[in-house]
Amino acid sequence: MNKKIAGFTFIILLLSLVAFSKLTSLSKSQESIRNEINFSPQSVTAGSDSQYDIDLTMTNKGKFKINATVTINNASQDQWNDIVFYFIPNIFTEKTLLELQNSLDVPSIVNIHNIALDGKRIDYDLDKDKLTIPLLKKLEPGSSVKVYFDYEFTLPVGGVRFTMNNDNYHLAQFYPMVATYREHHWNKEEYRFRGETYHTGFSDFKVSYDIPEEYTLVSTGEPDGNPDKSIGTFKVENVKEVFIAILKNPIVIQKQKDNINIRIFGFEDKEDLYKEISEVATDTLTYFQEKIGPYPFTQLDIVLDGQGMEYPGIVTANSIYNSGTVNPDALKTMVIHEIAHQWFYGIISNDPYHNAWLDEGMADFSASLFHFATSGEKIPYESMNEKLDKLEQLPVNLPLDKYENNMSSYVYGKSSTMLWNLFRHNGGIEEAEKFLKAYYDNYKYKEIDSEEFVRFAKYYFDLEDDSFFEDWLLLK
Ligand SMILES: [Zn+2]
Repeated sequence: MNKKIAGFTFIILLLSLVAFSKLTSLSKSQESIRNEINFSPQSVTAGSDSQYDIDLTMTNKGKFKINATVTINNASQDQWNDIVFYFIPNIFTEKTLLELQNSLDVPSIVNIHNIALDGKRIDYDLDKDKLTIPLLKKLEPGSSVKVYFDYEFTLPVGGVRFTMNNDNYHLAQFYPMVATYREHHWNKEEYRFRGETYHTGFSDFKVSYDIPEEYTLVSTGEPDGNPDKSIGTFKVENVKEVFIAILKNPIVIQKQKDNINIRIFGFEDKEDLYKEISEVATDTLTYFQEKIGPYPFTQLDIVLDGQGMEYPGIVTANSIYNSGTVNPDALKTMVIHEIAHQWFYGIISNDPYHNAWLDEGMADFSASLFHFATSGEKIPYESMNEKLDKLEQLPVNLPLDKYENNMSSYVYGKSSTMLWNLFRHNGGIEEAEKFLKAYYDNYKYKEIDSEEFVRFAKYYFDLEDDSFFEDWLLLK
């Protein structure tokens, strides 16, 4: 074991030296490269293009009724025989949990009453979270169909993201979400309880809601107006998904900065902590807007309940998978990480099953960039790299099912350290900030993958080959 680690360290050292020599032999100044306009980003196309019209009603007993119409355009080059949706509420039913060798004290109950295609009731296939709608006739590229859904559900207790927590309802992925379509097939992977196994394109949403008066609804939509209103509508465009939290008696701290309303929703007698979090969130948002690019909404909601998770315009933070509430410092770090996702996931998209590092690693990296840029602390390159020595030599961009229990060490940890190594001899913090701005300008509202990231970084730093990336990214 020790031998293996020593060998690994030597290889890393050698590769670092090679990478270092590459990175320090820049033939042009980075400034002049940045000003050239001959780089054109080659983003990954979603292949499907959707608009969602969702009508949500919640009864006093915590039962939700959904009527949704989804308009799907075939943005691929192929004729379609079917349309594939993620239908994640079905994962938490007793039946599916049993199939997945899992269980919950309170599973969800899901009843689908009717699915109709262009006004005609149809049969469908539902297998775990995969909902397949067969098309009556082939859908040509550029053509669209409307699928109507009428269903009811209750939330599980102890679910992942789609869950009831304390007295709050977390409605994540509660509607049928159109999958992306690429390389001649629907890009729908098996559901996993760890990591994000769903991937959607940027879409437009209109949501109407009617909930019991004692609850407060907060969501991706903005501004929600009076959050105490129990009946309302919101519209939001060009987002990967919509999240709604229905909250019981939250403590609300609000702050305005740069025309953005930052709201903290807490549930305990911890007003001082909530104020501190409000300050941290404001500073984070200001820094990222200044250094990376504009935040796209006029409101940011931070719900201090449930697991740390990002959604467009709203994040949740309080706990990590299955382990309880984190301490105040860890909570602040978590909030910063989830805010960073507004850029890396929310604005620059990536497939979180096949390229999770592009949102998790970039969010971790930019969160630590914010920390070191604002605290003046020295960047601990040695200790960051020492942590890598303890890992096996896996790349950071394997599909989620290819990692065992150590996915986070690669997708978050190793990728963020390797990004720091990239800037270590290339201008440090200042150059990292400029790089992220250029990255944002090139890829905002586009999807990027590992190969395209490398193409961009090589261009940006004028690198001759892939050698810096080869020991941590598996490239096609
Ligand atoms: Zn994250």
